[in-house]
Amino acid sequence: MYRILFFTLIAAFAAESGGQDPEKVLRSIFENALTDTSAYSHLRYLCKETKGRIPGSEQAEKAVMYTFKALVSAGADNVQLQRVPVPSWKRGREFCEINSGNSGRERLNISALGLSEGTPENGIRAEVIEVKSIEQLRSLGENAVRGKIVFFSRPVDNTLINTFSGYGGAVDQRISGPSEASRLGAAAAVVRSATQFNHDFPHTGVTRFGEGVKKIPAVAVSPLGAELLSRRIRENINVEMTLISTCSNLPDAFSYNVVAELRGYEKAGEIITVGAHLDSWDITEGAHDDAGGCVQAIETIRLFKTLGIRPRRTVRVVMFMNEEISGTGGRVYADQAALKGELHYAALESDRGVMSPRGFGFDAEGERLKNLQSLSKWFEPYNIRDFERGGGGSDIAPLKALGALQIGYMPDVQRYFEYHHSSNDTFEKVNPRELQMGSAAIASLIYLIDIFGF
Ligand SMILES: [Zn+2]
Repeated sequence: MYRILFFTLIAAFAAESGGQDPEKVLRSIFENALTDTSAYSHLRYLCKETKGRIPGSEQAEKAVMYTFKALVSAGADNVQLQRVPVPSWKRGREFCEINSGNSGRERLNISALGLSEGTPENGIRAEVIEVKSIEQLRSLGENAVRGKIVFFSRPVDNTLINTFSGYGGAVDQRISGPSEASRLGAAAAVVRSATQFNHDFPHTGVTRFGEGVKKIPAVAVSPLGAELLSRRIRENINVEMTLISTCSNLPDAFSYNVVAELRGYEKAGEIITVGAHLDSWDITEGAHDDAGGCVQAIETIRLFKTLGIRPRRTVRVVMFMNEEISGTGGRVYADQAALKGELHYAALESDRGVMSPRGFGFDAEGERLKNLQSLSKWFEPYNIRDFERGGGGSDIAPLKALGALQIGYMPDVQRYFEYHHSSNDTFEKVNPRELQMGSAAIASLIYLIDIFGF
């Protein structure tokens, strides 16, 4: 009697796990990922040959074609391009100098913010006023702001252990500061780079102007530049700045998401998406943000295919276009899915850099969260332990409306903002072993969710 029950349980387990022992499957995934070099060579290509792949650029097109081929050779059953409308913003010449009486002229390292307006060829010259927040700017009022260059100087709070929380607490100055300054008649805006690191790299990013608000020139200044500027403002009453940023907003263009599939053998109509964004800022190789995430996603297909892991559900790997400026790639993907009536079971995004894996975040609660957290036991041999509530990513967020469980890949993020959106985010900053520990962790989680459900 007990023996029959025992064999029934074993049979049920074998059926559930595709006839394989998950412990052995995970071991094979990690062993293969840690000894295969194709992901690292894809990363090198994206960083060195498609550097600066801002949406609408030639480099972005090159990255689309390259990852299309990489997904075919990884063994995808089919790979398609999905047309995505993208904005077209082009950086120009950049120069920033302050003149503050006794200290004379001093250069600051700047980088124009995406979607900002350009200055005339010979730039603008105006007095700088410093504010720590948008609220403080509003309290100054139009009389104090009109015609001036507004300098947003609040640094990231370095006491926050989660570096993304620190970033999130400062980045409103970059995203909304220039628009708020323009409402009060400012000539331009300069924003302290949102990073925990006191270096001389400016970190760019998108800025958004409100409906009907006049676009003005807006730049990020390096943290060291920001500190110098604050000091000069403390020392002198009037600090005058010469700012040149001859960027331009061009008519909208289009580009592509790259969408690859491994068809499920049992529930092909249920889709699990693994995604990252292929575009980067124009000043950077975008190694951690987010070429690394892209090659990790490609690895899910390569690992499954190489190791003969057949998914029950369809696994879709997506290289999303235009995450950085306006998120159209993620929206087009979800819109198309809704139009076709697709069933989306889960979606995972890797867009927090590719340092050593710590775990995953799940947008789930109660029993469902507990079930997902129980999967952490399979990852103990790999020191991957943080299975937490709350996770996802901006490209997969639109899939939530279709019922897809949102999963965020969580690597160690202490160094991430040393690179993020700056020319410091290079191929050399990625450790191949850390990258591949992450690739293996992602493929393993997709495998476990597919066989055990949640
Ligand atoms: Zn990113």
